[in-house]
Amino acid sequence: MQFIDSEQIHIKNALEEHKKKLSPLLTGKINESKNPFLQKFIRKNLHEILTGEPLVLVKIQKKLFDLKPDFETYLKEKRKTKHFNNRIRIVYSKYFEEILRIIDYNAFTTRNSNYDAYKLAQNLNINTCVYCNRLYTKTVINKNNDGEVIKLTRPTFDHWFPQSKNPLLGLSFYNLIPSCTVCNSSLKSSIVMTLDEHIHPYVDKDINFQFSYKLNAIGKYEFAIKNVGDDKNSRSKNTANFFKFKEIYETHLDEIDDLVKIKNAYSLTYLTNLKDFFKGTNQLTNEQIYRLAFGTEISEKKFEKRPLSRMKRDILIELGIIINK
Ligand SMILES: [Zn+2]
Repeated sequence: MQFIDSEQIHIKNALEEHKKKLSPLLTGKINESKNPFLQKFIRKNLHEILTGEPLVLVKIQKKLFDLKPDFETYLKEKRKTKHFNNRIRIVYSKYFEEILRIIDYNAFTTRNSNYDAYKLAQNLNINTCVYCNRLYTKTVINKNNDGEVIKLTRPTFDHWFPQSKNPLLGLSFYNLIPSCTVCNSSLKSSIVMTLDEHIHPYVDKDINFQFSYKLNAIGKYEFAIKNVGDDKNSRSKNTANFFKFKEIYETHLDEIDDLVKIKNAYSLTYLTNLKDFFKGTNQLTNEQIYRLAFGTEISEKKFEKRPLSRMKRDILIELGIIINK
């Protein structure tokens, strides 16, 4: 998991463009609505729906459910067909569809409009999956010889509060988390994350879990996830479990082998030796030496630039090759 600092200028600009481009679009759709209740509710809360921070989003959702408790029942129960009150289904399936018509995430993902998921991804400029830091999720937008814009690839956007249960939040800036398809679709099960039990990339600066390793009974390495710091309710560890980091990272055990080999061969002086090697020719910073040695970033702020940065930093500290600051 990577903390996204919303105080960074480019993130502030991304938020501003998100609001500026989507507000008029959604206002047009609100004006066309035949549901006076939703029309009034979404119009009144539009600014906060688009730009509200996660806690604000929870409040808006609650406000809606306080006014229409049966709608909350519908969203909770709609997949369970048995024993489901038919009247609630008939009335509130229409509410659900109407919200999705106004807050149309699918239209946002098409490649045609002047502001879409590609543009948001480009503005956020986050290079690896915010959740797992295993896969590159770079955005590639090119122009062909005729000057036509070709949108090739981008991260998927995970709805941290799932759209099926929170249709109002389908286009909320702080609910759109750039991530890989594995974390977004394959791993997200029916369990819903909550701010009390899980960490949110725009909220939680301290990521209080650490990758660790151990030798198992048959002499092979395996990953473990450790709780560190002051983590009330183990929110970081819950999140690591939610995304099955321990299991998924098992595919990267060869990385531990390599790091242990370095430790055994150079008895902890690997980085100093490298630095000496480059002395005189091209003075490199410690950060550059680290990147040359391990192919990843050492600074937590830059983990998103290279896959596996967090895991390698944690394991290197455990091996004593680098020092925990
Ligand atoms: Zn991922």
